Amino acid sequence: MDIKNKSLREAYALLENTTPLGRNDCGSVCDAYCCSDALGDSMELFPCEKEIFETLEGFEVIDGEIPTVKCNGTCEREARPLACRIYPLFPLVVYENGAERIRVIYDPRATASCPLCAHKAKLDRRFVRAVRRAGKYLIRDEQTAAHLRKTSEYLTELIELEVKLGL
Ligand code: SF4
Ligand code: SF4
Repeated sequence: MDIKNKSLREAYALLENTTPLGRNDCGSVCDAYCCSDALGDSMELFPCEKEIFETLEGFEVIDGEIPTVKCNGTCEREARPLACRIYPLFPLVVYENGAERIRVIYDPRATASCPLCAHKAKLDRRFVRAVRRAGKYLIRDEQTAAHLRKTSEYLTELIELEVKLGL
């Protein structure tokens, strides 16, 4: 894959071989729900990913304020978008002591589809670390940082709403 954005390239590389449960395939417990479910769903693309997936066979890019991509339920591991590489986690941007930091959280959007997320399972430390480091790379680049901050604001609001509703 030709990834021109350096931060995105680093994030892809970090998450190339890590998985939520390490050597155990979490897809075996849920029949790879996130991939089969993705047949009718689409994943948000980070900046600079759109041009990559527009030319990749098996993917359909849907343009919009935030472009998304649909797959056909299977893919080459090295051709997964970043949303799939970090799923079901997200590197949330938080402000602590006047500085931006990355806090890895379970993505609240994954609660309905991922049993690991629904049960807040303890995940492989290398995977969690890789998501955190990927977030640190993404925040170094203006374009990817803007996307990360915007999504972090949205997810923070979503989490606060869930707490208020007692979900
Ligand atoms: S839905 Fe969750 S447990 Fe199932 S394959 Fe996807 S990440 Fe793994
Ligand atoms: S792109 Fe690959 S990893 Fe992502 S949902 Fe589709 S089949 Fe699953």
